[in-house]
Amino acid sequence: MSQLPQSILIVGGGVFGLSTALSLSHRYPTHNITLLEASTTIPNPEGSSVDSSRIVRADYANAAYARLAAEGIERWRNTEWGAEGRYTQNGLVLVYHKSSGDAGQGDDGERYTRASYENVKRLANGDEKIVRFLPDRNAIHGVFPRNTVHVAETVVAGYVNWGSGWADAEAGVRYARKKLEELGVVKIRTDQKVSRLLFSDEKDDKKKVAGVQLADGSTITADLVILATGAWTPGLLDLRGLADARGQVLAYLRLTDEEQARLANMPTLLSFSTGMFIIPPRNNELKIARHAYGYRNPTRVRLDSSADVAEEAEVSLPETGRPIPPEGEEACRAALREMLPWLADRPFFKTRVCWYTDTPQGDFLVTYHPDHPNLFLATGGSGHAYKFFPVLGDKIVDALEGKLDEDLRRLWSWPAQRPSTTSFVTKDGSRSGRKDMILAEEYARGSKL
Ligand SMILES: Cc1cc2nc3c(=O)[nH]c(=O)nc-3n(C[C@H](O)[C@H](O)[C@H](O)COP(=O)(O)OP(=O)(O)OC[C@H]3O[C@@H](n4cnc5c(N)ncnc54)[C@H](O)[C@@H]3O)c2cc1C
Repeated sequence: MSQLPQSILIVGGGVFGLSTALSLSHRYPTHNITLLEASTTIPNPEGSSVDSSRIVRADYANAAYARLAAEGIERWRNTEWGAEGRYTQNGLVLVYHKSSGDAGQGDDGERYTRASYENVKRLANGDEKIVRFLPDRNAIHGVFPRNTVHVAETVVAGYVNWGSGWADAEAGVRYARKKLEELGVVKIRTDQKVSRLLFSDEKDDKKKVAGVQLADGSTITADLVILATGAWTPGLLDLRGLADARGQVLAYLRLTDEEQARLANMPTLLSFSTGMFIIPPRNNELKIARHAYGYRNPTRVRLDSSADVAEEAEVSLPETGRPIPPEGEEACRAALREMLPWLADRPFFKTRVCWYTDTPQGDFLVTYHPDHPNLFLATGGSGHAYKFFPVLGDKIVDALEGKLDEDLRRLWSWPAQRPSTTSFVTKDGSRSGRKDMILAEEYARGSKL
């Protein structure tokens, strides 16, 4: 006998929704399961799961994420997930910079790097051929191909983990969709934007979610609704203080064939002190990006919480389809000058603001809603969920079935006490930069370039 109700609706076709759908296909092959996606396509080019690359690392300060990521990497390496170029094991160099003396400016970088080093050293059984401490700039230079990466003067130390890699993010999403279609259990419906949750109008059961209403006014009912709507989730449900959309900058430049060959096998370079990172290029395109506190995009929305209660509120939601603001472009340009000075003046042919679903501690939100017993949240990726794609769905369905591992349950559940403040900055030890940036204000500022 299955533990989950017969009709299940998953909203969202990114990493959280697709991995949940895959796992449900295996555990509940005779259930009536539908996945709705607002975009006309999966992969959704505006979704957080879709991009040229995502770092796949077990390099976490938190041991529970390090272990889960190691499970994920096993599947990227040894199963179809990582085949056909979807996973490349190029190594990761994590570095930290001299303290700026300002707690907001990445002073957690050293602490995070050292804790992460201890975790991955343990996972590698102390094998220095896999994980090696790099005590100074010379040692760091030594792990990159000659005359490629420049290690900034402010960098103090770091380590290399040759067991980490990167995934072709869009190809991974395409693969998950193909697997779902082959399994044929879940009905996938694109171009289906959910405008609101429907609450039961039965007198004694108003807290129950009856289904969803779509943008065209039609409705779909279900016994269980799973929201995997990423950075858009705060527009559907009151998550103030718990999850919020934060924009991060990405910039891409074109390389010649010779430049592509030169950088193709470099390890990924990441600094949690500055947030800047470079993943090796593919198809003559190099990406430079920033993992930071990000931009808020305040938006007024109507939040329903039951059949007859609705409230107007301000939340941060994604804005897509525009280039990055001058501040972000300048940061990417400065990082390029610093890390790859021979490409310092190469124009960016494309930039993008990509949206994290940030939570206060950077932990996912994979839990039933405390007030609505048949509403489940699978979100809160906080800029680091992609690597778990091959294992995340199993954990989400474990949580649905009430049997999630205790360490993850503690990290991912609805907090016992709802935070009293509605605004927050993510304190996961890996963020840096300004904490107060508003996207519209940054667009309004002139460029200093
Ligand atoms: C710039 C950037 C860099 C990152 N780097 C890394 C990395 O290096 N390593 C790593 O592991 N992770 C990384 N991540 C994090 C990772 O990519 C995300 O945590 C993960 O992809 C989030 O998946 P999701 O399913 O929550 O969101 P999404 O992929 O955005 O999926 C949500 C989907 O829900 C749909 N949707 C929303 N609202 C509705 C609605 N009302 N009706 C119907 N459909 C709806 C959306 O259209 C969207 O397709 C990065 C993220 C970003 C943005």
